[in-house]
Amino acid sequence: MSVTALIGLGGNLGDVRLRLGAAMAALDAVPGVKVTARSRFYRTPPWGNVDQPDFVNAAIAVQTSLDAHGLLDAMLATERAFGRVRDGERWGPRTLDLDLLAYGEAVIDDERLTVPHPRIPERAFVLLPLVDIAAGTQLPGMGRVGDLLAVIDAAGCEPLP
Ligand code: ATP
Ligand code: MG
Ligand code: MG
Repeated sequence: MSVTALIGLGGNLGDVRLRLGAAMAALDAVPGVKVTARSRFYRTPPWGNVDQPDFVNAAIAVQTSLDAHGLLDAMLATERAFGRVRDGERWGPRTLDLDLLAYGEAVIDDERLTVPHPRIPERAFVLLPLVDIAAGTQLPGMGRVGDLLAVIDAAGCEPLP
């Protein structure tokens, strides 16, 4: 069985755009994962902790035969392969963040995984790229991606040329 999943990518250390492109290729190379759509890249202000460099964000759609936790494991392994270090600071600077935004129509909430990602509706840096690839998608319990973006402030975020 194959499921469409949506993944948000971001980072703010080093050449992020290059790294996000490489991370998309790395995910595409995971057995059971195929990237089917990729958004533009966006420059976005930091969120949560504003005293750090701007981020670059993007989103991809993948078609996958992995279950949601298996896909999360592949994403966390990819973060580590691209130099992600978790030092305990929440929402701090990072080389690569890969968040599972949605996994088909699934609603999951356990100690390792919450899907749809609970902070999507308040984040322009997630919704802008998501609209590029999935504007019409209904996120369970949240609504349509395009409608969510329409009611938040996306000031300061811009697509990279
Ligand atoms: P945020 O979730 O607010 O974007 P973050 O991306 O900085 O914060 P991380 O340090 O990357 O948080 O993730 C911490 C843990 O969150 C991961 O180890 C993972 O088990 C858990 N997690 C729960 N739900 C998700 C999800 N939908 N996508 C990715 N990780 C998730
Ligand atoms: Mg995140
Ligand atoms: Mg994360």
